Amino acid sequence: MTKYIFITGGVVSSLGKGIVAASLGRLLRARGFSVINQKFDPYINVDPGTMSPFQHGEVFVTDDGAETDLDLGHYERFTDTNLGKLNNVTSGSVYQTVINKERRGDYLGGTVQVIPHITNEIKARIHGATKQFKPDFQLIEVGGTIGDIESLPFIEAIRQFKTEIGIGNAVSVHTTLLPYLPTSGELKTKPSQHSVNVLRSYGIQPEILVCRTSRSIPKTEKDKLALFCSLSKEAVFECKDMKSIYEVPLALEDQHMADVILDLLRVEKRPANLETWKKLVDTIKNPKRTIKVAIAGKYTKLSDAYISVVESLKHAGFANDAAIEIKWINSEDCVEWDKCKELLSDVQAVVVPGGFGIRGIEGKLNVIKYARTNNLPFLGLCLGMQCAVIEYARNVVGLKGANSKEFDENAAYPVIDLMLEQKNVQAYGGTMRLGAYDCVVKKGTKAHKAYGSDVISERHRHRYEVNHEYLKQLSDAGLVFSGMSPDGMLAEMVELPKLDWFVASQFHPEFKSRPEHPHPLFKGLIDAAVKRVK
Ligand code: GLN
Repeated sequence: MTKYIFITGGVVSSLGKGIVAASLGRLLRARGFSVINQKFDPYINVDPGTMSPFQHGEVFVTDDGAETDLDLGHYERFTDTNLGKLNNVTSGSVYQTVINKERRGDYLGGTVQVIPHITNEIKARIHGATKQFKPDFQLIEVGGTIGDIESLPFIEAIRQFKTEIGIGNAVSVHTTLLPYLPTSGELKTKPSQHSVNVLRSYGIQPEILVCRTSRSIPKTEKDKLALFCSLSKEAVFECKDMKSIYEVPLALEDQHMADVILDLLRVEKRPANLETWKKLVDTIKNPKRTIKVAIAGKYTKLSDAYISVVESLKHAGFANDAAIEIKWINSEDCVEWDKCKELLSDVQAVVVPGGFGIRGIEGKLNVIKYARTNNLPFLGLCLGMQCAVIEYARNVVGLKGANSKEFDENAAYPVIDLMLEQKNVQAYGGTMRLGAYDCVVKKGTKAHKAYGSDVISERHRHRYEVNHEYLKQLSDAGLVFSGMSPDGMLAEMVELPKLDWFVASQFHPEFKSRPEHPHPLFKGLIDAAVKRVK
């Protein structure tokens, strides 16, 4: 039978609840249990796919083509488990289902209300994920801060769920912040006490408290938190600020968090195998070298917008005993060639990530031209590959005015065009080419060597593709199409074999990199960068 762990947050947002949920998942996985994470997001958007990265950070894409919250990326990376559509539940999607049922007449004339109809639908989403994955543990994180009006239906659904499933089958973990007051030299527990009180006022008594803190919590303060939050003393955990998020599972393991939870859930304890994870953290803490990698994009003011790219670079760094230093370059600053050269002069590799819209495109083309003409290791992702093709068409093939139809409807040479199945699409939400598709990798290419495989599966999120009409011209001029869709119609990867690492993909490899299994394309990039340093 599946056991449930609910994770809420209080006092402030951005506490790192997602990392706590992912870390706990890792600790259970390390004990041989199967685990899935689920995220409840209280906003009205049906999914984050239509939101600006400036607002929401990255949109994480699953194998089954769901556009989800970036926390799903953390869950997948920490628990090494592929999630899907059912793992991200938004208020918007819940309301959409209920309203569609109402329009169909399913409620037989009844008044449709938040309780019970919305809360029942939320509970159905919990059961739905259980049914699909049949995990030993299902960890459910509620976005936002306790006390928010928006999250109330989720909290009420959880209260009901816990009641229905009975003691010993579900626990609540509440994460809070302990602010430090330098004037009195104290960590203050009051906001956490208040936050637990709010949660209790909704009928949920947490069994576990995790406190984010900048310094160690003295025993007296821990005991105080236990007493005033009605918790046992072993159930209060500290989560100190750490250099790397990958240290968090080990810090919680040191405090026996998973064992305390297993006791509460009446599950027999098992030894944890965290050996490879410990080795990983060791490498992270003691890097032999630092590799400076530029990310030349549009949303560089908010690093969360490229979080999977950043993590993937780090993973490839771990495999090379290297720390990765990111140099954020706003591609608009690269429109001037001299400025572009200057900005790229001190990095050992460059990534041009995915994106939408024309802003900064000419700068990205300059970045790619610089990488190509200076043998600077380069990885292009989705839009990054489309730009690599445009750059090659313009500057090597000689097709002046080559462009993507996304940026110029009347391009003289539309080397990137809307995919056929996209031509009649009107709505924005969930209508791109999304999720995992197979790709055939060409033998003898750098990509083939990196993957060590003839057929791969990678995740997509795009509307445009390389225009088939230009494939021959481009490849005659030396651009190698190292990956194609199985029907040979869609270009999935390009590379320049003479350069150390000039590879770009139409898909998003960053969604599949894991700390213990760095993605081959990112590893190829960092391997090449390390060679350059040596
Ligand atoms: N805007 C491009 C497209 O829709 C690239 C998308 C992306 O980078 N994810 O095809």
